[in-house]
Amino acid sequence: MAEDAARPLAGRVALVTGASRGIGRALALALGAAGAVVACAARTTEQVEAVAAAIRAPGGRARAFRLDVTRADDVLGQTGAVAEALGPVDILVNNAGITVMRQTLEVSDAEWDTILATNLTSMFLCARAVAPAMIARGWGRIINIGSMWGKNGVPRYTAYCVSKAGVDALTRCLAVEWARHGIRVNCLAPGYMNTDFPREAMADERTRALILSKVPLRRIGEPEEVAPLAVYLASPASDFLTGQTIYLDGGQTASW
Ligand code: NDP
Repeated sequence: MAEDAARPLAGRVALVTGASRGIGRALALALGAAGAVVACAARTTEQVEAVAAAIRAPGGRARAFRLDVTRADDVLGQTGAVAEALGPVDILVNNAGITVMRQTLEVSDAEWDTILATNLTSMFLCARAVAPAMIARGWGRIINIGSMWGKNGVPRYTAYCVSKAGVDALTRCLAVEWARHGIRVNCLAPGYMNTDFPREAMADERTRALILSKVPLRRIGEPEEVAPLAVYLASPASDFLTGQTIYLDGGQTASW
């Protein structure tokens, strides 16, 4: 497929999970602007509809899909619906994620299971659902949204850290297994980003100051700042890059 520099993803179909807000929304908009036909998926129908409409407004192509990534039947059904409506998925962005801040001894079985199901198992389910068509066409891109906390131990975030460390491992395994099929799998791991996600922690002045003191760039990132790297990872330009976790964190993981 010939690459247009301004629209490197023209002709590609991208599925973004958790596209209703935050980082997923920014990624869906950026992939759409780069020429991809975007399937915007999440549970909150009005929000994914609004994101799809925002991609269509300047002339892009997008459709909203209601998807709960923790449900294997829903993943199969909705990835099938995406393929039927837009064509087979070329680019999968596994972005949906949640967390809960809780002392480890107070984490319930249900909380543990839900965090692992949303942040990690969902990525396996979505990748497994779309990979056969990628393999058949000999081309695919999978971008898993990890976290800098996948490599750190953070008190009160055990389930979250474990899930994101699992995302790193899943990325490497899929990358190695599917390299020969033309599928590239990478993990884009943000640091603190200005979304609903860290809002509770950032609302407390002392916590906010502590967080910023750990970031060499002394600020948190904006969701839009994740987008250019995701477009690169989705495009043919990144053909020699696979199995990597790339930290986009204002230098935090590089710091002492
Ligand atoms: P937000 O809370 O703003 O958005 C989370 C998204 O995930 C929403 O679109 C939500 O949609 C979706 N989601 C949650 N559960 C499900 C589910 N069961 N099925 C489908 N979609 C679901 O978070 P961010 O944008 O900040 O986070 C996005 C990703 O980035 C996550 O994987 C997170 O771990 C990661 N990250 C974020 C950081 C940050 O500081 N913001 C730092 C490092 C990593 P809906 O509720 O409509 O289903």
